[in-house]
Amino acid sequence: MWQIDNARTTRFLQEMVRIDSINPGLVAGAKGEGDIAVWLVDACRELGFEVQLQVTAPGRPNVVARWEGSGGGKSLLLTGHTDVVSVENMTGDPFDGRLEDGLLYGRGSLDMKGGLASIFGAVAALKAGGFTPKGDIILGFVTDEEYLSIGTDTLVKEVKADAAILTEPTGCQLCIAHKGFQWLTLTTQGRAAHGSLYNEGIDAIAHMGHLLRALESFNTNVPVSHPLLGRPSAHASLISGGLGLSTYPDQCKLQIEHRLLPDETAESVMEYWTHTITTLSGMVPSFSATVTQDFFRPGYEIDKDAPIVQTLDAAFREVLKDAPKYMGLYAWLDAVLLGKAGIPTVVIGPGGAGAHAAVEYVILEDVMRCASVIAEAVAQWVG
Ligand SMILES: [Zn+2]
Repeated sequence: MWQIDNARTTRFLQEMVRIDSINPGLVAGAKGEGDIAVWLVDACRELGFEVQLQVTAPGRPNVVARWEGSGGGKSLLLTGHTDVVSVENMTGDPFDGRLEDGLLYGRGSLDMKGGLASIFGAVAALKAGGFTPKGDIILGFVTDEEYLSIGTDTLVKEVKADAAILTEPTGCQLCIAHKGFQWLTLTTQGRAAHGSLYNEGIDAIAHMGHLLRALESFNTNVPVSHPLLGRPSAHASLISGGLGLSTYPDQCKLQIEHRLLPDETAESVMEYWTHTITTLSGMVPSFSATVTQDFFRPGYEIDKDAPIVQTLDAAFREVLKDAPKYMGLYAWLDAVLLGKAGIPTVVIGPGGAGAHAAVEYVILEDVMRCASVIAEAVAQWVG
């Protein structure tokens, strides 16, 4: 078993949490991932890795570090995102990285600098233990997961690996599936007219009510569900419309989000709305609407029998003397981008609470447990 240096791993984590890396895609003018990239370059060099930067946007680089193998083994990518979400709603100093009763607090401590610390803890243990890899060990620290994932999109253009471990928070469970999502805009067309002229005006907002009811019935009538991911879902996100108190509204726009199972397609959701609009047009006088897709990211699933899942399963049993639990995440992750690029990926990271919330913390013991499992998995995989 590889000996994790708890003090050093805690220091890695604390230093990362203390660096503001708020995603500027989410918060205009925010710091971005530049400062944390500088820290990551230093930390990777301290461990003896070769480091390379990939520009994903001005001042927002991915950091890619390599521990070259002697040859004949499989390569493994250890990866996670370096950006964090807004701190606006947080109580206390979001970047103090304070340690209390085995919990380390701060924005990004759980999502997901705790996971990044597990990666550092693991590779530092392998280095200290005199491990010599046959396959390459690659560390990929990526930008922008919390917004558009330009980081992983850029990473997979240049970096190839036989498998990946993504250390998003899972409470040390093996996550082998996550949902996809799709943003759509529904627009109803009315006809503007003086509020008194019922014979001329067409009420676009009232017509949107029909589509809102269709949204509700989508949720109550979903015929499918997934053992790890529950059912697909849809919700209304933003709505706008209307011209004034005494005017029939000419248009109403509703932006919605669907959350999809891994085997569902964007086309199937579009078909649901196109069909709904056609049906309503035949039933409701003067009903007219359109649907457009604004953004889509598919879901992901990896087979339990896949070699990288089996390796993590074995490493988990070896290190923690227990069978791992398997889970799916309702939230979207970068795993699907890695999977689609031909890199089979499993997600395992420490637990805690408050990702994106007012108080966020990671459980330090989990950071160390994940580091141990990852170190063992790396050793078994790369040989
Ligand atoms: Zn995350």
